[in-house]
Amino acid sequence: MRAPRAVAEFVSDIRTATSDVFEFDNTYANELAGFSAPWQAVGVPAPRLVRLNHALALSLGIDPQPLDGPLGAAIFSGNTTPNGAQPIAQAYAGHQFGGFAAQLGDGRALLLGEVVDPNGVRHDIALKGSGRTPFSRGGDGRASLGPVLREYLMGEAMYALGVPTTRALAAVTTGEPVLRDRALPGAVLTRVASSHLRVGTFQFFASRDQVEMVRTLVDYALARHDPELVDDPNPALALLDAVILRQATLIAAWMNVGFIHGVMNTDNVTVSGETIDFGPCAFIEGFDSRAVFSSIDEGGRYAYGNQPSIGKWNMARLADALVPLIHDDADQAIAKATHAVDAYDTIFEDHWLAGARRKLGLATDLDDDLSLAKDWLAQLAAQHVDFTLAWRRLADFAGGDPEPLRELFADRTGLDTWLVRWRERITREEGDPAERAAEMRQINPIYIARNHLVEEALAAAVDHDNLEPFDRLLAVVSRPFDERVADERYARPAPPEYTAGYRTFCGT
Ligand code: AMP
Ligand code: MG
Repeated sequence: MRAPRAVAEFVSDIRTATSDVFEFDNTYANELAGFSAPWQAVGVPAPRLVRLNHALALSLGIDPQPLDGPLGAAIFSGNTTPNGAQPIAQAYAGHQFGGFAAQLGDGRALLLGEVVDPNGVRHDIALKGSGRTPFSRGGDGRASLGPVLREYLMGEAMYALGVPTTRALAAVTTGEPVLRDRALPGAVLTRVASSHLRVGTFQFFASRDQVEMVRTLVDYALARHDPELVDDPNPALALLDAVILRQATLIAAWMNVGFIHGVMNTDNVTVSGETIDFGPCAFIEGFDSRAVFSSIDEGGRYAYGNQPSIGKWNMARLADALVPLIHDDADQAIAKATHAVDAYDTIFEDHWLAGARRKLGLATDLDDDLSLAKDWLAQLAAQHVDFTLAWRRLADFAGGDPEPLRELFADRTGLDTWLVRWRERITREEGDPAERAAEMRQINPIYIARNHLVEEALAAAVDHDNLEPFDRLLAVVSRPFDERVADERYARPAPPEYTAGYRTFCGT
């Protein structure tokens, strides 16, 4: 009867190995009493490691090797708590589709702890889908494989595009079904984030009039994300400015890659300026600023073209939460907060235009560039031209190959008129056409995570336990700028009728 002993040895192996893998340093759990609840994952019957992000692990200073098997399955399912981890469920509130919910919190997530990477940057390591917590309300605390893999894929795609984002370290299946509109394979995602501080974290305490708790949170956030501002005479205002800068920059980056987040609720808006919570998100195909794919966004609140103004609205909600700390006099506090929020528009426009200039192949700034960029988008909108391909084929055009661009337009009259302007504009700059085209190809991707490809990859994984399409797509979107003949199919848009009927679901 050797089996029980073998199991005991295996478990002790896991514990020993675990302590070597992570060096946790848990400031949120230790320094912020009353901001979270100590908690444990519920545990799952048959954890299996589906994918481990080796490159991300290495960049965190974590050796992926010992995690790439049963130990990783045990840790990333929540069955084994690694040494040094102090798992907590974080409290937060949030405006959801405009309405305030005073208590959301980690209903199915668990912050295991923080690791400091070799560059001294701190990261949260959190499980998502690890079971019910004190914040679960009606939910089951679980996640299913499709949305877990979607978040993995989208995070890597955004990272490769140079957009600030949280990323997946691992995906595991649990061996247990979760019940949605049908029974689906249960899964847990391990997420890495610069922090999980959200606008909604501040709102949780502000809405309870716990001003001192908000103050503590401001100090913590500054120490973590803006250490150069910790001695600022007005810490809350300094934090507000810093977050507005990061969020306006982030949303400009989304707009320039054609990303639609789908659920820009204030609980999904980070203080770090990283993209978080990839639910019903999608990349735009045929250009239309009204594009919205989320099944739960009936009013189109979070449509592509609304994202900049929603971003500002979300910053105003952060400002609301910070107002009592900005000045003792309420009128002055509101005036300062309003001024800070109003700066959002200019920051957004500057960053958006800087991105658009690079995408247009322009190295200098001239007054008419804004109208040149906007008129280009108007051309795309008029004929629903594929956003990603249009930019990429403009790079080819710049390199002396006009046909691929022209072929995207059924009617070329407007395009040709615009191209005359663009040509005239680039003659006002130095530069060799081939070099300009090469530079444009470094910012205008050829591969994005197209909706039909994502769905195909997730369906193969969920319905047929086949990860091959997922792996291929992940590899393709992880190198979005180098066009490869063999990957031609990944560059092609979905048929317009597919996109017209496409809906993404939180499916959580
Ligand atoms: P999300 O839509 O993922 O940003 O989640 C919004 C809120 O709902 C958060 O407080 C989540 O923790 C909670 N939530 C989402 N899905 C579940 C679930 N399956 N069980 C419990 N809470 C959940
Ligand atoms: Mg969320």
